[in-house]
Amino acid sequence: MKVLKFGGSSVGSAENIEKVVEIVGKAVEKDTCAVVLSAMQGTTDALIDVAKTAERGDDAFRSKIREIETKHLAATRKLLGENSQDGVFDFVENRINELRSICEGVYLLRELSLRTLDRIVSLGEILSTKIVSAKFNSLGIENVWKDSRQIIRTDSNYGFAAVDFAVTNKQIKNYFSEQIQNPKSKIQNLVILPGFIASDADGITTTLGRGGSDYTGAILAAALDAEVLEIWTDVSGMMTADPRIVRNIRQIPRITYREAMELSHFGAKVIYPPTIQPVLQKNIPIFIKNTFAPEDYGTLIEAEVLGEKEIIRGITSIDKISVLSLEGSGMVGIPGFSKRLFDALSRAAINVILITQSSSEHSICVAVEEKFDALAKTVVDKEFEYEIAVGRIDPLQIENGLSILALVGDNMRNHTGISGKMFAALGGQGVNIRAIAQGSSERNISAIIESKDVRKAVNTLHEEFFSDGKRQINLFIVGVGTVGSKLLAQLEQQKDHISEQMNLNLRVVGLANSKKLVFDEEGIDLSNYKLQISNSEQSLDLQNLADLIIEKNLRNSIFVDVTASGKVVGIYPKLLQKSISVIACNKIAASSEYENYQKLKDLAREYSANFLFETNVGAGLPIINTLNDLTRSGDKINRIDAVLSGTLNFVFNNYDGSRTFSSVVKQAQDEGYTEPDPRLDLSGTDVARKILILAREAGFPLEMSDIENKGFLPESCLQGSVEDFYNEMEKYESYFRELLETAKSNKLSLKYIASFDHGKASVGLQSIDAAHNFANLSGKDNAVLFYTNRYADLPLVVKGAGAGADVTAAGVFADIIRAAKI
Ligand code: ADP
Ligand code: ASP
Ligand code: MG
Repeated sequence: MKVLKFGGSSVGSAENIEKVVEIVGKAVEKDTCAVVLSAMQGTTDALIDVAKTAERGDDAFRSKIREIETKHLAATRKLLGENSQDGVFDFVENRINELRSICEGVYLLRELSLRTLDRIVSLGEILSTKIVSAKFNSLGIENVWKDSRQIIRTDSNYGFAAVDFAVTNKQIKNYFSEQIQNPKSKIQNLVILPGFIASDADGITTTLGRGGSDYTGAILAAALDAEVLEIWTDVSGMMTADPRIVRNIRQIPRITYREAMELSHFGAKVIYPPTIQPVLQKNIPIFIKNTFAPEDYGTLIEAEVLGEKEIIRGITSIDKISVLSLEGSGMVGIPGFSKRLFDALSRAAINVILITQSSSEHSICVAVEEKFDALAKTVVDKEFEYEIAVGRIDPLQIENGLSILALVGDNMRNHTGISGKMFAALGGQGVNIRAIAQGSSERNISAIIESKDVRKAVNTLHEEFFSDGKRQINLFIVGVGTVGSKLLAQLEQQKDHISEQMNLNLRVVGLANSKKLVFDEEGIDLSNYKLQISNSEQSLDLQNLADLIIEKNLRNSIFVDVTASGKVVGIYPKLLQKSISVIACNKIAASSEYENYQKLKDLAREYSANFLFETNVGAGLPIINTLNDLTRSGDKINRIDAVLSGTLNFVFNNYDGSRTFSSVVKQAQDEGYTEPDPRLDLSGTDVARKILILAREAGFPLEMSDIENKGFLPESCLQGSVEDFYNEMEKYESYFRELLETAKSNKLSLKYIASFDHGKASVGLQSIDAAHNFANLSGKDNAVLFYTNRYADLPLVVKGAGAGADVTAAGVFADIIRAAKI
């Protein structure tokens, strides 16, 4: 004997019912089957809506009934043809007329009791099963339709009735032994029954709670000692998370009753939690199968899953939660407070979903469904009326807009560090945790979070615990100039490699130039981003962009600033405060006032975000990271000597007297080695900013004004426009020539050097001899010598190309990966 239950979507249309018929047709060839059906998809909701509309006195209930009628008649027609002999059309019409009469009564009286509502919603299951039964008949598959109300007995708690198992089991056994085991009975192997509905001792219709058809299946399976209970639905079994929330979910082939119960309790609908109880007691396995892909294995739920290594089985959440907090000094050490709290809630039939109490006993916090918030407040404040009046405890506090997030797995109890990992991952995404509960069974760790964070939180945990699940990184990039466009090209080119090697799926979701913005949550197609930006109708407003990034609340969001704009820097704090990492190629933030730099670093630390700016010094060279590694491991930076301007190095390497100084500078600009404004390089300001950043990273709180800048450029070259700057340099050619000749005559060469020595920093042009560490720097190379406690005599040297869009973009890319991996 098998019990098969088909959910609302499985019987949602004539086409779907054909699939059900096929599955059942095959099953009855082998086994005796009890088939339990839900109402056609959406029907229960529609019936409730009709009833409530009538109760409001709104005559729209009539047209709503017509919709239900049309839907059922259309399915009947499609399945059976116009000339069905079964009288099923009449049956449908009669039931719909019954619905009309009841609703007219509700409409007149403007009164809808739960008892009447049960009567109304029961029609959904009655109609669907009758139609399907007739379809079997039309195919020559003999079957008998049995009204579940005649065999499942409950109390009279309408809407959510409790089963009287003693009576129910007896009635089920009696009926089936009459029907199936009786050799005189004509039909022995297929009984079709409506799910969800039952009746009380007076024969009045009751229902088992929303989703209760699963329960009907389980009650039958247990009473009949079925070999299996099959729940047929629209997904191929239980998944590691709700498929509507997480994309890369995995199907769970086997799961224990306990785990399935925890998962479904916490929101995963797939099966209705009470379903497990009757079959668990009898050790009857449950198979979750997909009506639309019957060949898929599905999920087998049983007592033990042997040889299992999975620690976490699934992640789930429930929305619409209220948290009630009872607080007050009068609670400490006095027994009985929690008892009274729970008694008060229980008397009002408010179900408590989660409980936490701090060991100081100063507060107790319980989670309930949001719909009970006002009632809870009333009953609890009433219960503690006296204590509140004398100030021993505070009136009950209520917070709404919350959800419960739960990690489920039997094997969690054998592993340490799971909750640490869970909360670190959530913290890293800026998900605020309001309360935590872990049962001593350690099968479930639950946290209360804000509902707006649920999608991000479930996805984050899914990526964290299901390791072959790749991590989705969402990038917002501002700046599509020379470096920005190279970065986009590299991202596009490397994305498969990064996905395979590092399990990171990089996706650019926001992209802006100085004027316009494009946003696409699914990822912007980088092959034609220029066109997309120019066609975009969204102009760039940085504050709006920051708000958009925060509001979208995508996990692993990273903001990348590839501009040189002071305005963009203004949104860093807002982003870091939301745990969104900031990668800056832009040097303005790290070289602004120390207080500002420090604030950004502190925000990053406080909110577990990254604020990375490796390319601020030496483009893609690992200079800041090397410095950080040294200091983090306890070394102390005593001195830094550095050639940090690829531009100036290029200029002095190429200036040999054959061309004017000005034309060499122009070439550097044309080849993309200068800042957008080349005077920043030539004045030494850019080098000063870099040594400032290095000094700060080494732990010295210097300001720009502390850097001694021994400029070599005549003052007048720095006035006026960029064009004036080139003209003015032409005028000073003899001055530059003299600098060059003096050095040459002493067998020295010119280098623009930045130094930091025990807290003091300077930049300036120096003449160095051939033996100097910097003598052989060619082209646009940079070099940094770190003299530290460990590298006291011979410095640690980082050297290589220190300018150019390609290497800079590569450095930004490396920062992105660094931020994504943490
Ligand atoms: P039925 O109408 O067949 O009873 P339900 O709607 O009650 O179906 O349950 C199936 C739905 O449960 C799926 O369509 C899916 O969207 C949802 N669901 C939520 N969490 C999970 C999960 N962890 N695994 C599978 N499905 C889930
Ligand atoms: N039709 C009922 C509901 O929608 C019962 C079920 O489908 O399980 O809740
Ligand atoms: Mg269901």
